[in-house]
Amino acid sequence: MSAPLLAIIGRPNVGKSTLFNRLVGGRPALVHDTPGLTRDRRYGDADYFGKPLRIVDTGGLDPEAASEVIGAGIHRQAMIAIGEADVLVLVVDGRAGVSSIDHQLANELRATGKPVFLVVNKIDHPTNDPLVHEFHELGLGDAWPVSAAHGRGIDALLEAICEVVDPNAPPPSEPEPEDLFDKYLSPKLDERGQPDEEAPQEEPDDGPLRVAFIGRPNAGKSSLTNRLLGEERSLVHHVAGTTTDPVDTPFSHRGREYILIDTAGIRRKARIDEDVEKIAVSMAIGQMARADVVVLVIDASIGPAEQDARIAGKIEDTGRAVVIALNKSDTISGEEAKTRLRDLTKDTFHFMPWAPVTMLSAQRGDGVDRLLDLVDQVALEHSKRIPTAQLNRFFAEVIEEMPPPLHHGRSVKIHYITQGATRPPTFLLWANTPDGLNPTYKRFIANRLRETYGFRGTPIKIIIKARKDRHKEDPNWRG
Ligand code: GDP
Ligand code: GDP
Repeated sequence: MSAPLLAIIGRPNVGKSTLFNRLVGGRPALVHDTPGLTRDRRYGDADYFGKPLRIVDTGGLDPEAASEVIGAGIHRQAMIAIGEADVLVLVVDGRAGVSSIDHQLANELRATGKPVFLVVNKIDHPTNDPLVHEFHELGLGDAWPVSAAHGRGIDALLEAICEVVDPNAPPPSEPEPEDLFDKYLSPKLDERGQPDEEAPQEEPDDGPLRVAFIGRPNAGKSSLTNRLLGEERSLVHHVAGTTTDPVDTPFSHRGREYILIDTAGIRRKARIDEDVEKIAVSMAIGQMARADVVVLVIDASIGPAEQDARIAGKIEDTGRAVVIALNKSDTISGEEAKTRLRDLTKDTFHFMPWAPVTMLSAQRGDGVDRLLDLVDQVALEHSKRIPTAQLNRFFAEVIEEMPPPLHHGRSVKIHYITQGATRPPTFLLWANTPDGLNPTYKRFIANRLRETYGFRGTPIKIIIKARKDRHKEDPNWRG
C-alpha cells in the first residue's frame, strides 16, 4: 500500500512552501517572498513516527489572475493535487486574517468530502494563538495554529493528520528496545564485562569538525571566513546569482582542525539584489545539512531580524548544532547597549533558548577564539550519548515528579527510554499509548533532559514508540 497523500492548498504567500519544506524536512527548496511565484506541483516524502506520508505542495495560484482563479475555481495544478490527495490541508495566513480567496478555497475543499485540516500559519508565538478564532467562519472545524517557519504546532498537526489518514496502521517494523540497545548502544565494558557507566560516551571522533557560516548578506560571513582562512586563500568568491559546486576548505585554529563548508553565501554584497539575496540564503540552508555546527552570523549593528529567526528555525529543523554570533561588536559601544542587544537576541530566538550567543568582530579579530571554543563545545554536546541505565534512572524520577496526563481516562505508561542516535541527540521512548504523550509533555521531557545533561547548542529529538504493557518482564526496565 502506498503512503497516503496530503495536499497543501492555499492562496499565495500564506506559507505553503515553508510548510512543505518543514514537513518534508531538511531537503533544500527555494522559498520566495514574491506572491504567486509560479511553481509546478512539488512532491516530497515525510515520515512521522515511522508512518510514511507523501506531501504535495500545490503552489502556483496566481494572484495576477485572481479573478479568473476565483471564477474558474482552483488552478488546474491545485485541482489535480486535490483530486489525487487522501487528505487536504488548507493553509491560511494568521496575520493577514480571513480573505475571500480563503472562503472560496474552503468551499471547494469542503465539497470534495475529503478530510480537510485548516492550518493557520505564521502564529509564531503563543500570544498570537487567539488569531485563529476568526478562521472558524470558514466552516472547516478546528483550526490548527502553526508556525511553519519555526516549527510550532507541527507535531500536533501531524499527529492529528496521521490519525485521520491511517488510524489503525501499526508503526512499521517496530524494533524491540533490546535490539536497539545492541544496534545503537555499545557501552564500554568494565573488567567484569559489565557496562562501565563512568566511561566517556562521546562518539568516536571522525575527523575535522565541519562548520558552516550562515546568515543574511552583509552580516560578515566572508570577513569571518577571511579571518579564519587568511586573506589570500579566501579571495575566492562567486559571482552573485551563479551557482557553483560547493568547495569545502580545511583550516586549523589553535591546533584544531576544521572544515569550512562553503555555504554559497560568500559573495560580494554590492552585486546582490533582493531576490538573489534570498536565493543565496536558501542555498546556504541547503548546504548546512553537511555541517556539524552552524554559526548563524548576525550583523550586530542592525540586530537580529525576522529572517534570522527563520534561518534559525531551519537550522533547528536540520538537527545541526548552533552558535549565534553577533558580528561587528566594534560598532556597539557601552555595556548597556550590549546587554540590550543580547536581550533582543534572546527574544528573537526564544524558541531555541539553548543556543549560545556570542559577540565578535571579524574585522578586529575580537571574540574569534571564543566563537571557536563555543563551536567545539556545542559539537561535543551534539554528539553526546547518555548511557541507557543512567537515562532510565533519571527518567523514573522525572515521571514520579510529573506523570504523563491521562489519555482518554487511561494512564499512560512510559516503559523505557534510550538514546537512539546522536547529532542531534535523539531519544526513543516506549509507551503503552504513544498518542497519549502530547507535545507539551514532550517539551517537559526535553527541558528536563537539558537541565540534567546540558545539550547546550544542540536540538534534541524525542520519538515516542508504542509498546504493550510488559515492563515487569523487561530486564532493562529500572523504573
Ligand atoms: P507560499 O506562497 O504559500 O508557498 O508561501 P511561502 O512558503 O513562500 O511563504 C511566504 C512568506 O511567508 C515567506 O516570506 C515566508 O518566509 C513567510 N512565512 C512562512 N511561514 C511563516 C511563519 O510561520 N511565520 C512567519 N512569520 N512567516 C512565515
Ligand atoms: P557577508 O555578505 O556576510 O559575507 O558579509 P561581508 O563579510 O562581506 O561583510 C559585509 C560588510 O560588513 C563589509 O563591508 C565588511 O567590511 C563589514 N564587516 C564585516 N565584519 C565586520 C566587523 O566585525 N566590524 C565592522 N565594523 N564591519 C564589519
